[in-house]
Amino acid sequence: MSLHVLSVASEAYPLIKTGGLADVAGALPGALAPHGVAMTTLLPAYPAVVHSLGKAKGKVMHRYADLLGVEARLVRHRLGALELILLDAPALFARDGGPYSDRNGAEWPDNWRRFAALGRAAADLADGLVPDLSFDLVHAHDWQAAMAPAYMKFTGAGRTPSLVTIHNLAFQGRFGADIFPRLGLPAEAFSIHGVEYFGGVGFLKAGLQTTSAITTVSPTYADEIRDPEFGMGLEGLVSARRDVVSGIVNGIDTEVWNPASDPHLAAPYALSSLSKRVANRRAVESAFDLTEGDGPIFCVVSRLTWQKGMDVLADVADSLVGMGARLALLGSGDPALEAAFMAAAGRHPGRIGVRIGYDEPLSHLMQAGADAILIPSRFEPCGLTQLYGLRYGCVPVVARTGGLADTVIDANEAALAARVATGFQFHGVTHDAVIRALQRAVAAFAQPKVWASLQKQGMKADFSWGRSGQLYADLYHRLTAA
Ligand code: ADP
Repeated sequence: MSLHVLSVASEAYPLIKTGGLADVAGALPGALAPHGVAMTTLLPAYPAVVHSLGKAKGKVMHRYADLLGVEARLVRHRLGALELILLDAPALFARDGGPYSDRNGAEWPDNWRRFAALGRAAADLADGLVPDLSFDLVHAHDWQAAMAPAYMKFTGAGRTPSLVTIHNLAFQGRFGADIFPRLGLPAEAFSIHGVEYFGGVGFLKAGLQTTSAITTVSPTYADEIRDPEFGMGLEGLVSARRDVVSGIVNGIDTEVWNPASDPHLAAPYALSSLSKRVANRRAVESAFDLTEGDGPIFCVVSRLTWQKGMDVLADVADSLVGMGARLALLGSGDPALEAAFMAAAGRHPGRIGVRIGYDEPLSHLMQAGADAILIPSRFEPCGLTQLYGLRYGCVPVVARTGGLADTVIDANEAALAARVATGFQFHGVTHDAVIRALQRAVAAFAQPKVWASLQKQGMKADFSWGRSGQLYADLYHRLTAA
C-alpha cells in the first residue's frame, strides 16, 4: 500500500539549512520513495527558500485571512524530488536574518506565533483543508513543527496518526503562559495532557505529549533521554511514553560524501586504493601548516561548544602533541574555545593547526587526509562527522554516547580479532578518558595492518539512507495500520 506523508519542518536542504535537521528533512522524501511512501514537505516561505525556487510561481492551494492573526497562503512547489507546500505568511517569515533569529543572533520575539502557525497549517492540511489532498500521517520535526500534533488533537484532525522526531532535545520552544490565549486552542489544552509545561507553554512538550509516536536520531539517544542527565527536563514524559519511543540513525548523502568522486579532494580514492590517501594527507599538512612526521594526524570538524567536549580537548592538546601526534582543527563557536585552540596552535607550531570558520570543501579534504577524527561529545543525538569519517577511512575516536555509540565499533580485543572494529570509543568526557583513547589510537596507528583494518571496516559500513528509509517506512505503516 502506498502512503502519503506530510513532513513538517522549519528547514530542509538544499532550500534552507542551519544544521543536521535540514539534511534529514531534505533527504527523507528520496529515502522513502523506494518504500512506497510519497512525502510532501511543509516549510515556511523564508526569503532564502523563495530565492532558491527562483521564478517558479507555484500553485496557491489555500488562502488564510487570519492564521493566528496574520494573512497567509499555502503554495505548492516542486524542487527535484522535493514536493513542497510553502507556508507563505510575509508578516511571519519575510524578513532578513536566520530562520530563528535576527542578524545579531537574537531570537525573533514572535517565534511562538511563527511556529504555531506552521503547526496549525499542518493540522489543517491533515484535516482536509485542501480538496483532493489527503495525508495518511503527519511527521513533525523538532519543536518548530511539534505543535502540529497538538492542533490535530485539540482542533479536529485527531484521527490522522502523527510522529514527532527529536533531532536535539536541547531546543524545546518554551514560552510564557501569556501566549496560550492567542494559540486558538480550547482551554482544556492548557494542561499536562496538552501544551502546558512548567507553568508556561512548551511546543516540543506539547508534541511529545499528543503525538502517536516519537523517534530520535539514534537508538542510544532514545534510551539516554529517559535519564535526567540527557532528558533536559523532558525525561519524565519520554519515560512515560517509552512504548512509543524509538531511535532511527540518520543516513548520509553517499553521493556528496564519496571519496571516489569528491571534487574537494587532492586525490580521489576508494577502499581498494587507500594508498592514494597520502596526497590528501599532504594537502591537509599544507592547509594547516603542519610539519611532516610519523605520528597520526587527528582532525576536528565541529562547532566549538561545551556539547562537543571541546573544552576538554583544548585542555589535552599538549598531551596529544606529547604523544607524537598532530592536530588539524576546523570549527567556530564559543569565543573562549576559539581562543584556547588558537593559543594551543601558538604553543605548538607545526604540530597543531587551527582554522576558525565554516569551510565545507576543507571539511571534505580533512576527512580524506587526516588519519582520525576526534569527537568527544558530551551528548550527540546522531552525529554526522563520524559517519563521514568512516566512509573516508578517517578513523573515528568518539565518546560512547548517542549516535556515536551506535555507529562506531570500538577496537577492543574481541572486535579486533573478529576484524569488525571501526574506531575507538571512550566512556565519559574527562581528561583521562580522552588521553587514554588518544594513546590507544596512537598505538594502533603504529601497527599499519591494524590501522588499515580499521579504515577498511569503516569504509565497508553502510550508512546510506537505504536502511533508515526502510525503518521510517515500516514505522509509518505500523502507525497508519493501528
Ligand atoms: P551538529 O549538527 O550537532 O553540529 P553533526 O555532526 O550532526 O553535529 O553535524 C555537523 C555538520 O556540520 C557536519 O556535516 C559537519 O561536517 C559540518 N560542520 C561542522 N562544523 C563545520 C565547519 N567549521 N566547517 C565545515 N563543516 C562543518
